[in-house]
Amino acid sequence: MARSYVAEAKRRGLGSRRERIGPIVERLAREHDDATIALRFRSDLELLVSVMLSAQTTDVNVNRVTEKLFRKYRKPEDYLAVPVEELEHDVYATGFYRQKAKSIRGAMRVLLEEFDGHVPRRLEELVRLPGVARKTANVVAAELGHAQGIVVDTHVRRLSQRLGLTRNDDPVKIERDLQRVVPRADWARFPHLLIWHGRRVCIARRPVCEECVLAALCPSARVF
Ligand code: SF4
Repeated sequence: MARSYVAEAKRRGLGSRRERIGPIVERLAREHDDATIALRFRSDLELLVSVMLSAQTTDVNVNRVTEKLFRKYRKPEDYLAVPVEELEHDVYATGFYRQKAKSIRGAMRVLLEEFDGHVPRRLEELVRLPGVARKTANVVAAELGHAQGIVVDTHVRRLSQRLGLTRNDDPVKIERDLQRVVPRADWARFPHLLIWHGRRVCIARRPVCEECVLAALCPSARVF
């Protein structure tokens, strides 16, 4: 499916990916000037824990849980000072609570042992923390102002395909394709723009092409 959109962009004479990416970013930035991460956090550590908890659940749900969680757990040592069952109970409502509690405790241990209790900035350091895969590391690094990649979630994947920015389905390959065309200065905000556009307009089952600011640049638009 993604392949046909790339071909379709050529067929419709919409321009190459490189030619379209500037106007795409510009229009999305105008349309969604409030597009930022929806998770609530006040420190690097809270950011890391929030992103780890956000797997397989909504940001709203994570915020509900962390509001209480972050009053109780303020530093890495706090997550290790309670029995694992207590942490499991405290993150229960985010789902997969056993795995998440285990990962958080593992990550806190490595933070203390290798990083002086501070959240590192570099992707290769972040992915050394238990439970932190490339996507989580990308989100954390970008929010800390050190984007070294482009976050690819379900919205970014769908919109990148519909916009004919990638032929691929695998998130790692999609990220590589996006890195080739998206200017580096936009690596942090680009996923937020696609995520908000995906939630509000380019909805998975029912894209509202007739109201989309990207329609003239999009090879899968149904309005032309
Ligand atoms: S034109 Fe339609 S398919 Fe293309 S980005 Fe907009 S809503 Fe999505």
